[in-house]
Amino acid sequence: MQKRLKSLWQVQQVDNELDKLEELRGDLPRELKLLEEKLKELSEKVEERKQERIDSQKKREENDEVVAQSRANLKKYKAQLLQIKTNREYDALMKEIDHTTELITKLEEENNTLADQSKKHALEIEEMEPEIAKIKEELKEKGKDLAEIDKKTEKERNALLAKKGTVVSKIGRGDLSYYNRIREAKGRAVVSIRRNACDGCFASVSSQKQLEIRRNDRIHTCESCGRILVSSEIEKITLETN
Ligand SMILES: [Zn+2]
Repeated sequence: MQKRLKSLWQVQQVDNELDKLEELRGDLPRELKLLEEKLKELSEKVEERKQERIDSQKKREENDEVVAQSRANLKKYKAQLLQIKTNREYDALMKEIDHTTELITKLEEENNTLADQSKKHALEIEEMEPEIAKIKEELKEKGKDLAEIDKKTEKERNALLAKKGTVVSKIGRGDLSYYNRIREAKGRAVVSIRRNACDGCFASVSSQKQLEIRRNDRIHTCESCGRILVSSEIEKITLETN
């Protein structure tokens, strides 16, 4: 059992070091993610607006064609009016003229609305484009800052990852997933006892439990936070301890 506890303690040591390196990156990863999300959102909106402008233009051209054709028809109908012989023919032609006039009005109104909308969309694009450029610039700068930090810690990080690989290979699958589960929820999964309390959540640990933990013969967890508790004997084990 001591071996299992030892390996769990050691993987926690490596992860503590890796966490310290991660802390050096500060808020940058989160800021970059937020900027990327904002950029994506704005870019999509600009594309949407551009497409709407293209569609609007196409629709207006189609309408213009129908209007031109209708005007030509009107001219023809009005010429025909002069040669009409019966009331029935007259009524039919007048109906056609009314219908065509209505259609022209409707399409022209539609085109005015589309043109207004398109103008509004153009303004929106004009407002969003500088914002996009600003975000891109910010992304570039912050990305550079992060890359610089990562470059400085790259060697150390790779060494730690290699070490972690070695330690992890000694841990059983069950223990490892148990460890990862606690780590994900709590940050630190394996802690020692300090001043008769769990070093993770500071809840006191009874002397009876401390006695059991000192036996190093099974995995004990803190009743309050669920972290794995190890004895001072395990705590003395370093990454270099074989
Ligand atoms: Zn605890």
